[in-house]
Amino acid sequence: MTGINNSWVIRGARVIDPANDLDAAVDVLVREGTIARVGRALQADAPNLDADGLVLTPGFVDLHCHLREPGLEYKETIATGTQAAVRGGFTTVCSMANTDPVVDTPATVALILARAQAAAAARVFPLAAVTQGSWGTQLVEMAALSEAGAVAFSDDGLAVADARMMRHALEYSLLVGKPIVDHCEDPELVQDGVVHEGLTALRLGLRGRPAEAEETMVARDALLARRTGAHVHIAHVSTQGSVDIIRAAKRQGVRITAEVTPHHLTLTDEIVARKLNENADAALAYDVNAKVNPPLRTAADAEALIAGLNDGTIDAIATDHAPHSENDKLCEISQAESGISCLETAFSQVYQLVRSGKVTLPTLVSKLTSEPSRVFGLPTGTLSPGAPADLVALDLDATWTVDPDAFASKGKNTPLAGATLPGKVAMTFVDGKIVHAVDRFQQRGAR
Ligand SMILES: [Zn+2]
Repeated sequence: MTGINNSWVIRGARVIDPANDLDAAVDVLVREGTIARVGRALQADAPNLDADGLVLTPGFVDLHCHLREPGLEYKETIATGTQAAVRGGFTTVCSMANTDPVVDTPATVALILARAQAAAAARVFPLAAVTQGSWGTQLVEMAALSEAGAVAFSDDGLAVADARMMRHALEYSLLVGKPIVDHCEDPELVQDGVVHEGLTALRLGLRGRPAEAEETMVARDALLARRTGAHVHIAHVSTQGSVDIIRAAKRQGVRITAEVTPHHLTLTDEIVARKLNENADAALAYDVNAKVNPPLRTAADAEALIAGLNDGTIDAIATDHAPHSENDKLCEISQAESGISCLETAFSQVYQLVRSGKVTLPTLVSKLTSEPSRVFGLPTGTLSPGAPADLVALDLDATWTVDPDAFASKGKNTPLAGATLPGKVAMTFVDGKIVHAVDRFQQRGAR
């Protein structure tokens, strides 16, 4: 199903566009892949698309995902990762730099952009590393990488452990005007910890990763951002203490922003132990698919993260989509790779917070669209006239059961297999083109 020159009048939806403070039953006119007008009863020479009963928003913007290409194509490719993205409603994805090789040269940035141009279903904005090879010892050439198209800098997967290196990175980032994104976990405090340091770790006899491993580094980064005047963005905030530190720093006017993942908002460390009483063999006594860095924390931490979303302390919801192969996860939990394949479940996970009355739908949509775009200065996440017609239509009444085998992502690693979740991505548009539609909407369109 295609519109004429990717043009449509999308009618009948409740349109939520936080960038323009809009939440109303209006039509959206898409002309040649661009948002032309938003308003009531639009008359236009374009095919009608009936979105009755759906919620229409800008396509979601993910500040943090791992597409694994180049070098780790057995886990994911730009093609499969962006296919997963559009199924999950994400039309813009920012790819992390811990590929093989690490994204630390303009040539690698150019390679990712070229492959995205050829094969991606969604828009891809690459991050580059902060240090060469993410070894933490020598800064990358930020100006050249920025020129090549890097939207931010991160050694994600690893923290920038050396405080002096972080200070220099922040100072240099001022020259290119792009944020440093830090994976805050002090390696000296984490050591070989596997899960959150707490009761579940004790009960399972697993080594813990203390909340303080994250919080000390968030505090350090906030202070260095204050000192340098640079923009630091805290990846995947997971603890109550981190939320408190970021809130206090924002009140002081520090240029600090933060993201949170769907799993840290909605799951706790207790699900790691879920398989203990099943008849699995001993090596699989824990749910390795719930192993993630930073680890799933406590219910009190999740509540603090939700409060942080609501009061603006946390700017964005980001997936930290981290696909792994079966072999990466089919081993003893301390040896298993960390990460969750998240793009295809993210919206439904966080929509649970709307269902339970903890977050309003417009707030949730803002954390998936306008807010992440603002954090990285991206041109998407809005239905302003002239913006690319990247849209998602949501069927909030639908429920579905998570079947990792049906994922477009190569990463089947999710602790949610078999879970029934509310809300479904019905249609996704990139540049006005329908790039994903569930069965019952595939018949809709021009009439
Ligand atoms: Zn990370």
